[in-house]
Amino acid sequence: MKTQIELAREGIITPQMAQVAGTEDVSPEYIRRMVAEGKIVIPWNRLRKPRAVGIGKGLATKVNASIGTSSDIVDYEAEVCKAKAAVESGADTLMELSVGGDLDRVRREVIAAVDLPVGNVPLYQAFCEAARRYGDPNRLDEGMLFDLIERQCTDGIAFMAVHCGINLYTIERLKRQGYRYGGLVSKGGVGMAAWMLINNRENPLYEKFDRVVDILKRYDTVLSLGNGLRAGAIHDSSDRAQIQELLINCELAEIGRKMGCQMLVEGPGHVPLDEIEGNIRLQKRMSGEAPYYMLGPIATDVAPGFDHITAAIGAAQSSRFGADLICYITPAEHLALPTEEDVRMGVKTAKIAAYIGDMNKYPERGRERDKAISKARRDLDWEKQFEIALFPDDARAVRAVRLPEDEKTCTMCGDFCASLAAGKLFAGDLKGDKI
Ligand code: SF4
Repeated sequence: MKTQIELAREGIITPQMAQVAGTEDVSPEYIRRMVAEGKIVIPWNRLRKPRAVGIGKGLATKVNASIGTSSDIVDYEAEVCKAKAAVESGADTLMELSVGGDLDRVRREVIAAVDLPVGNVPLYQAFCEAARRYGDPNRLDEGMLFDLIERQCTDGIAFMAVHCGINLYTIERLKRQGYRYGGLVSKGGVGMAAWMLINNRENPLYEKFDRVVDILKRYDTVLSLGNGLRAGAIHDSSDRAQIQELLINCELAEIGRKMGCQMLVEGPGHVPLDEIEGNIRLQKRMSGEAPYYMLGPIATDVAPGFDHITAAIGAAQSSRFGADLICYITPAEHLALPTEEDVRMGVKTAKIAAYIGDMNKYPERGRERDKAISKARRDLDWEKQFEIALFPDDARAVRAVRLPEDEKTCTMCGDFCASLAAGKLFAGDLKGDKI
């Protein structure tokens, strides 16, 4: 059976392309052409058939929420609740990244609980299974690894972050660089680097890249090229190791696309604001505009407990300059496994960032929603404001517990409500439109 990209190249508009076109209010032919060129991907799995979500050029920036058990906290029901909370809060995709307990069970239960495309990182389970079977994750063998990738695809995984871009050359580049203030922060990345160094072998995911592609193609699963050497600190951003891996991933994106697989490239997680634009331009230029998945990025390292905000600041900037999918960050980042409430907060904060980014990425689409809520605010039309707000229930809840004496106003200024005074003073004079 053919993949979305292969069908698009034959001129066929699949039902998934048509669905994405409807959601995004663009023509089905545009989606087909962009999928054919590899500039839009639709995470899919022909066995599971998730909701069709388009990621890439000309589309709204999407938000991913990552959940999953850890070795310390294994609660299957809690992970399912977090998955549902992510959907309710507006996540567009979900990554199931468990590393504790029965990994097949948690993946299957999460996939069954939501209709979103679900992604994962196969190396996590591969190293866990090798550790359980042999007492050492570095005894992972190729057969186990590729069998596992196939097993996860048969469960319905729609996009898979595979660490193909770390090869012996990338590791040599890192060693020659001679520093990393934040060390390595990708679990898959550090695990694969250890496996390669201890076994004195090339990364099988790089060496046998065509085998990875062939497996994913059977399910029409998107291959997301993992960022295993990504900077985990502001002062490591855009260093030579990071760029070396990006370069290889961009090269692999082109090869995978030619082989008929939908390809996504993963980007870094810690980048100062002034380097975000350059990072995105480089990725787009080197990959032939493959959709780019940024992990925020966090724009400063000094605010643990508030990293949903540091990431949202970076995410607004990355969305503005062309990132297509951003991974949410929760307030628990760098501190603990997120709770359901953290997940809700993370998704909502990232959605706001994506919205702000899109206002600048697509200025031609106007800012009508902002204009409408401004008018409602000026006119003290509270119901209208809630209707237009990104998260009406949250806005309603804040007002409801602090109601003013005069219900037209709010308790911020009460009798000194400027909007009320201006309305009386200028009556209809301020209700015209911009010249
Ligand atoms: S009371 Fe103050 S904050 Fe509240 S609506 Fe009026 S001007 Fe705005």
